[in-house]
Amino acid sequence: MPFNHPAEDLCTHVATVLRAAGSSHAEAATVAENLVEANLHGHDSHGVGMLPRYVEAVFEGGLKPNSNVHIRLDTGTLLNLDGQRGYGQVIGEQAMRLGIDRAQQHGSCIMSLSNSHHLGRIGHFAEMAVAQGLVSLHFVNVLSRPVVAPFGGADGRYGTNPCCIGIPLAGRPPFLLDFATSRVAQGKMRVAFNEGQQVPPGTLIDELGRPTTDPAVVVLPQSNGLFGALMAFGEHKGYGLAVACELLGGALTGGGTWHKPTDPNVRTVLNGMLTILIDPAKLGTDIAFEQEALAFVDWLRAGPPGAGFDAVLIAGDPERSTRAQREVAGIHIDDQTWREIVAAGRKVNVDLPSP
Ligand code: NAD
Repeated sequence: MPFNHPAEDLCTHVATVLRAAGSSHAEAATVAENLVEANLHGHDSHGVGMLPRYVEAVFEGGLKPNSNVHIRLDTGTLLNLDGQRGYGQVIGEQAMRLGIDRAQQHGSCIMSLSNSHHLGRIGHFAEMAVAQGLVSLHFVNVLSRPVVAPFGGADGRYGTNPCCIGIPLAGRPPFLLDFATSRVAQGKMRVAFNEGQQVPPGTLIDELGRPTTDPAVVVLPQSNGLFGALMAFGEHKGYGLAVACELLGGALTGGGTWHKPTDPNVRTVLNGMLTILIDPAKLGTDIAFEQEALAFVDWLRAGPPGAGFDAVLIAGDPERSTRAQREVAGIHIDDQTWREIVAAGRKVNVDLPSP
């Protein structure tokens, strides 16, 4: 029977390691809580398994603990922010608080954030906005190893560029669409690799551009020193959305796009994010918006389930049900991932319990 960690215990362990790696109490608590929330939502790829990478990034100098968002421009409805390579979990929250404030004042805000270290689960930021009744759209690029192949291409050229749309639904849990534009998130390949699993066909190509189901091709350098790549979701359409994320999250924010071969010495993960916030009340359509949104969602849910499905869901439902279940049952961390977390703790003189 696998051991499940209670969420609070994981939070405490992760925060202890982060403090020992140089973070203030407040920063360590925010990052730890965010990572555990990702696990609770079922996105283990963006959960506590990221900790070893973050500790390494601090040592490498690519991640700067205790950094704050820097305002480069603030016209009220336009915000241009620099994340100064701080923890994305902290920088992202600071940026969203500014954007939400401006959208509440003016009805909308376009917020550009560059140079943040890994922002983690983008849905967290949309949740902050929908909790205030705002619509929130996010286009994100990833400056790291280029792990995704363009549609029709045979090698990795860009990152897993997530896209996220949060829409409040009056009196109900929100619509929360949040996904990598690769067929699966890169972190899920790390999780599958650590668990010794193969992945579904159509997910990956190897270092020579051939289809494979072995997640090792994107986790470890292959015999020729190169990596394989993830495929884009949705064929040419998902690929198009990924390019839009790069152009909006990378070029428009000023954070930069990826256009060079992999440098094995550079392992930092930076995110750029273009966020658009809209207040339906200020737009003057709030009553129609509430009614029409609910009517449409009810209409969807009333549809008959297709073969192999129990019900028609909306985005956000799977994460909410996983969260309810994991809050009670705890969070399973596979042995390999836990060993890596323990090793990360040792690097900063923190002893965590063995697997
Ligand atoms: P995924 O493939 O699990 O898709 C998740 C989305 O699909 C969610 O909105 C979910 O509610 C919805 N969904 C799932 N099943 C559904 C159903 N039956 N009916 C309706 N909707 C359904 O997610 P992913 O692509 O693996 O991404 C995981 C996480 O990784 C996301 O939180 C994303 O933000 C994050 N991510 C972050 C980065 C980064 O650099 N910061 C990069 C890539 C991904």
